[in-house]
Amino acid sequence: MKRICVFCGSSPGTDPAYTATARQLGILLAEKKITLVYGGAKVGLMGHIAKSVLEAGGRVTGVIPKKLYEKEVAFTEISDLRVVGSMHERKALMAELSDGFIAMPGGLGTVEEFFEVLTWAQLGLHRDPCGLLNVKGYFDRLIGFIDHIAGQQFLDSEHRGMLLEDEDPLSLLDKFEKYTPPKADKASWALKLENNI
Ligand code: AMP
Repeated sequence: MKRICVFCGSSPGTDPAYTATARQLGILLAEKKITLVYGGAKVGLMGHIAKSVLEAGGRVTGVIPKKLYEKEVAFTEISDLRVVGSMHERKALMAELSDGFIAMPGGLGTVEEFFEVLTWAQLGLHRDPCGLLNVKGYFDRLIGFIDHIAGQQFLDSEHRGMLLEDEDPLSLLDKFEKYTPPKADKASWALKLENNI
């Protein structure tokens, strides 16, 4: 893995553990010579992770839409800041540039961005690992809901297995390295279910 995309909050959240873990992940990426791809902002957890990668001597690529350049305070000190026309372009470029996707604690934007790449994996549009960095159980209820989705047969166990999770950044990266994508895409599974095969 050469580049990992991290989706995370444009706010820091309430628990200092969120910031501390963002910094821990940033240092780890720098040590492993993995470029951080992220939303290009200076605010919130986004800012913390980018700063920690730079301080540890690593590389950062930021992708920010023109309209958010001022609002999210673009991190102009990073060497590779790409300014794009829209949110859709931002997500497409982040996906194109990355070989793995992590969501850290964050808000609606974080969840939206992560689930888009996860659904692209489910459709077989990419084969890269996707994981939740579950700091202090932040995503527990979301993971519980995904298990509910699987329990109700809207998601098969092979695709449920695509969602990696760990509370520790290093263990999550280990899971990324060992990850094998599912053989079948979601459409073939849905068709099998429909035909009772
Ligand atoms: P949040 O998790 O809500 O703090 O947002 C994290 C990042 O996601 C910020 O950079 C937001 O601009 C971005 N974001 C919010 N909504 C979307 C969306 N629909 N598509 C792409 N990025 C988004």
